[in-house]
Parts: sequence; structure tokens; C-alpha cells
Amino acid sequence: MASAHPDLEGCTGFLQRLIRTESLPGREGEIAALIRDEMERLGYLDVGCDQVGNVLGRVAGNGEADPLMFNTHLDHVDVGDPAAWPHPPFGAEIHDDRVWGRGAVDIKGPLAAQVYGVARLIGGPAPPGDVWVTAVVQEEVGGVGARHLARNPPARRVVVGEPSRLQVRRGHRGRIAVLLKILGRSVHASVPESGVNPLISLGRFLSRLHEVEHSVADELGPSTVAPTLLETDQTSTNVIPAEIVQILDWRNVPGETDEVVLARLRALMDEVLEDGATAELTNPVHEMVTYTGVVSPIPENNPTYLLAEDHPLIEAARALAEDALGEQQKVDVWQFATDGGHFAAAGMEPVGFGPGDERLAHTRDEHIELAQLAAAMDVNERFARELSSHATTLET
Ligand SMILES: [Zn+2]
Repeated sequence: MASAHPDLEGCTGFLQRLIRTESLPGREGEIAALIRDEMERLGYLDVGCDQVGNVLGRVAGNGEADPLMFNTHLDHVDVGDPAAWPHPPFGAEIHDDRVWGRGAVDIKGPLAAQVYGVARLIGGPAPPGDVWVTAVVQEEVGGVGARHLARNPPARRVVVGEPSRLQVRRGHRGRIAVLLKILGRSVHASVPESGVNPLISLGRFLSRLHEVEHSVADELGPSTVAPTLLETDQTSTNVIPAEIVQILDWRNVPGETDEVVLARLRALMDEVLEDGATAELTNPVHEMVTYTGVVSPIPENNPTYLLAEDHPLIEAARALAEDALGEQQKVDVWQFATDGGHFAAAGMEPVGFGPGDERLAHTRDEHIELAQLAAAMDVNERFARELSSHATTLET
């Protein structure tokens, strides 16, 4: 039986077991069971999974403040060729006071620091409000778990634990995938004038893509768009395709909804489309299946969000983190999108804070310093005790 003492040693051992348990999106059942067991050993209440397989556990508050939720996710991205890693991706080896492996920073290190940091409250004086620790499924593939949890969240305020080098984060750009389908008329490539080649319209469209309007949010910068995947319906080199699909990756800022972005792109498409060709611009939707067997259509987008720097939750988090770490905070935004976008879109208030260097996420050098884990446990403990009531005091 593993140690379940909420100290750094226990947290590190837990993190190693998490890394050694592979948990690709849609295959998080084993790691969910591991986390539930650990929460039960630590004394969490109401430990369980919801319909889609998200893990939840609670520390009881005394009812004097609103509940607070901590959140990370269960899944990770693929490792590619394991032989190309400096240390085995599922080995969780410790070298130079760092734990190495897939998920060390995204997101098993932050997950362990939330579960163990909050567990320090168990058996002591009750916090003012209930504290929930949650870890959701399929964050890396569209936020299936977060979308589900956001429909009926146990708390409105949420600490999103994505790696932030122990700095408070208040938002990020979002992502909207756009599927551009252009239909022409397929003919033999030796008589191109008798057909309609959709690649010609695409070429015109891409050459003028920089003209499309982009919104700017000061703190997040301008939105951007990049063409990524391109497919045609042909495998022959001597046939003009009838249909092509181009995917565009739009990183949006607040105010740029799916509809706004699609309308801007459609306006350009209307100007460049060749006679005889037709075009459709849509936000693709994918059927996702959770490990519990729930099937749901998930649009390929991730909302943007931004809380003001003087938002009571951000100010409270900054003050508590500075106090716990004895260091000035640099409140900033993330470069990538998180499940915080789904929570914010549902009217919740996400504040970002996690251990580890986010620049190592999705790389073969993924590792986390034990010192970061220890510090994050301290801050999470402090947040669990005071964040909700502190933010409410600032609000009123
Ligand atoms: Zn993540």
C-alpha cells in the first residue's frame, strides 16, 4: 500500500504512478481508478466518477463561503517514438530532482499537486466552503469532460492547474477549427479547361487570407489564422479533383465567435470563388466516445476567455500565491488554450495556476522539478483554505 500522507514524498510517489499509467484520450479508465483510490486513502468525501468518467472528490467546508473547484485532466498526448526520449516516457524516473516522463507537466504533476495540496485540509479545521478536486476526460481532444462538468459544476470558481511556472494566469486565446470544402468538376488533367479545378479557388483564397479582419485584445494580442491540413478526393496525379478540404486553424480573442469568424472567411471566399465552383465553410464536429461509453458530438473549438487583472478572483489568487511563495507574482496569460475556456463559456470563473514549465508540454523533454511540485502543493493548500472567501471579500 502506497503512502497517502500529504507530503512531497507521497505526492511524488503518486505522480510516478500516474505517469506509469498510460491514459490517452478515451482510455482514461485505469488512471481514473488510480486517482479515486488515492483520494479515498487521503480521506476525500464523495469520491467517484460522473457519466463521462470525470473524477471528483470533495473536502467538506463549513458553509460560510461558496464552494471552490480545482481542475486538471486525465489524458495526455501521444509519445511518438519512445526511443527518441532522453528517459522512458512512462518510466517516471527521477534525475536531478526532476520527475521525467509524458504528463510530468501536462498534466499529472499539476494533478498530483492539487490532490495532495488540498488533502492537507483533511482532518484539520474545515475551510469556509466545500472544496472539490476534479480531473476530466479528453481535454486534449476538444474538452469532452470539461464541457460535461461545466453543465452542472460543483462550484462556479475554478483553479485550472495547467502548468504556469507557479504564476497566476487569467486567460488565453481560443481556437476555432474551420473546415473549408470547395467543390468543382473533375475531369482528365489533360483537358483542364473542360472542368472546374477547386484548387484554383483555394489558391486565390489562401493568397488573400492575410486580408481577413482580425480582432485584437490588448493582453492576448491579435487573433491569427493558419491553413493546416489539405486533402483532395483524388489519389491519382493525372485527374483534376472534384472536391478538396482545407483546414484553417483560427486562434480567436474575445468577441470572435464561430459565427463572426466564419462570416469573415465566407466574405473573402465569395470574392475569389471561380465560376462553377461552390464552397462551404463550417466548424467541424466530431463524434467523441468516452471510456465510459458516452458518445457525443463535439465541435472542434476551444473558447477564449480573459478575466480582468483586477478581477477579485485574480487579485485574491495573486495575494495568496505571493504570500505562500514569498515572491512577487507576474500575472499573465497562457499561449495555449485550456479547459478554462469551456468553464468560462458556461459562466464560471477560471483562475490558472500550476507547477511546471508549460514550454515542456507535448515535448520529449517533459519533466517537472520536485521544488515546483512542493511549492504548488503549498499554494493549492492556501487557495483551498482561503481563495473563495478572500475573493468574495474583495467583491463586496
Ligand atoms: Zn493540459
